[in-house]
Amino acid sequence: MSIKKGIKLKFAISLLAVFIVCSTTIVNWYLSVHALKDTLTENYLKNNYRYAKKVSLSTSDLFFNMQQNLGTLAKILGSKEFSQEDLDSWKEANAGYFNSLFTTDETGVVQLMTPPAISNNKGGVKPGVQITSDLMKQALKEQKPFVSDPYTAQTGNLVVLISYPIFNQTGTYQGVVDGTIYLESDSSLKRILNQHEFHDESSVFVVDRSGRIIYHPDSSRINESVGDHPLVQAVLQGKSGSAEIVNSRGIEYFSGYANVEQTGWGIIAQTPTSVIEQPLKELTKKIIIRSLPLLLLIYLLAWLFTNHLAKPINRLARYSEEAIQSNKPDYSIKHLDIKSQIYEVKQLYQHVQKHFQLLNTQIQQDGLTGLGNRRSFDLEISDLNLRKISFALIMIDIDNFKKINDKHGHLVGDDVLRFLSSIMADVTRKEDLCYRYGGEEFAILLRDKKVEDAYALAERLRLKLSYTPSPAGYPMTISLGISTRRKEDKFPEDIIKRADNALYQSKRTGKNKTTIYE
Ligand code: GH3
Ligand code: MG
Ligand code: MG
Repeated sequence: MSIKKGIKLKFAISLLAVFIVCSTTIVNWYLSVHALKDTLTENYLKNNYRYAKKVSLSTSDLFFNMQQNLGTLAKILGSKEFSQEDLDSWKEANAGYFNSLFTTDETGVVQLMTPPAISNNKGGVKPGVQITSDLMKQALKEQKPFVSDPYTAQTGNLVVLISYPIFNQTGTYQGVVDGTIYLESDSSLKRILNQHEFHDESSVFVVDRSGRIIYHPDSSRINESVGDHPLVQAVLQGKSGSAEIVNSRGIEYFSGYANVEQTGWGIIAQTPTSVIEQPLKELTKKIIIRSLPLLLLIYLLAWLFTNHLAKPINRLARYSEEAIQSNKPDYSIKHLDIKSQIYEVKQLYQHVQKHFQLLNTQIQQDGLTGLGNRRSFDLEISDLNLRKISFALIMIDIDNFKKINDKHGHLVGDDVLRFLSSIMADVTRKEDLCYRYGGEEFAILLRDKKVEDAYALAERLRLKLSYTPSPAGYPMTISLGISTRRKEDKFPEDIIKRADNALYQSKRTGKNKTTIYE
């Protein structure tokens, strides 16, 4: 029967080590990447929120200052004569707050204007032209300062209008002074919005009260309505904060938002979430490059340890395999010296050792008498003959054993066999080798002994039996034949045959005697 050999323990443990090392690395990588991702996300959200807040405050300040500025100008206009040059100098002196400044009388006809004229192909605005827009009508009617929502002016520009009423010293209404800010060209507002310090793809856009984009780095998006986006709705409700969002074009952003109190606009600072992909990729690369030598070292140590652990078990298994394959009766475990501190290995080794010892003795022993069996007799005599060691052989056969069996039964017969073997053990010395040759025949091998010594021993045995009662109830007798090894003997059978002949001689000449082969 062939047994599948299976995977070696060394490889199984190595595989386990590889699995543990790899999975630990993957978990570490996963945790590191996530920690960095969380940190980056948090930073971008925080920075964008801060930036939106800063821009909203600057914008509020700007509008406040611009209104103050117009208020002062209105006061001056109501109290004294003001020329075109005065208005030009005023605009220059006030850090270019406005893209244009103009005054109208109480009917909306432009009086002074800097720059002096603004025109497009539909017409234009210049001193003497009456402005008929609803916004102007509203300004003239209400006679109050206000900031308009962004609108497309008569000049075609997207503008925000800041208006201030002019009253003379007697309190008579004289018209308005208006400042415009162009959202699409260079303006004080645009300078604030453009001031960011981002070095990545971050950007800022502004929506007015109605959710329309009024400032965007991509000018094609100006005037686009994004009021239905939840983030825009939140900022227009006066909220500020940060969130990860998907914009109207399906791009994900880290967004920070804040409301401009003065105008009700929303400022949104945003960075595409894709900016964190590169740092995450770099981190992964770094982890791999940095941990690879360490992993190899750990794996090497694990491999060495595994080898140390598995070696004794492997030797034990190999030994068992060889023992089974060799089929030798005396496959000795003596040369297998296993040292291990592992409990299971120690136990297994001891058990295998004991088991082999037991098998070795069992395979060489006769089950009934405990003497060496025919197999071990054959091995020993062959070995002696092969090594040309001189020895004597005594062959023994019980006289009339059949009668004992017949008269007292086989169990008593067995007892008689055991009795004979115990007497054999009594009369021989430790170095004399006793065997049950087969049935009721026995043999003794006497190494380096002369024929006389063998004869003396044979007689001692025969005589002792002749007066000691056997289990049959009376003493038993045996016949013996002796031979010795001769130089010319090639096979052990030659010696056995001669001892057998001598034994036959003893039987033939009346039994209960010892014959030496002549
Ligand atoms: P002889 O004096 O010529 O030797 O006669 P014998 O009766 O001893 O010889 P024989 O060979 O005719 O008989 C041997 C008997 O030994 C036959 C067999 O039944 C018996 N025998 C062989 N082995 C055993 C055994 O293990 N136990 C028992 N009880 N009897 C055995
Ligand atoms: Mg016989
Ligand atoms: Mg017999």
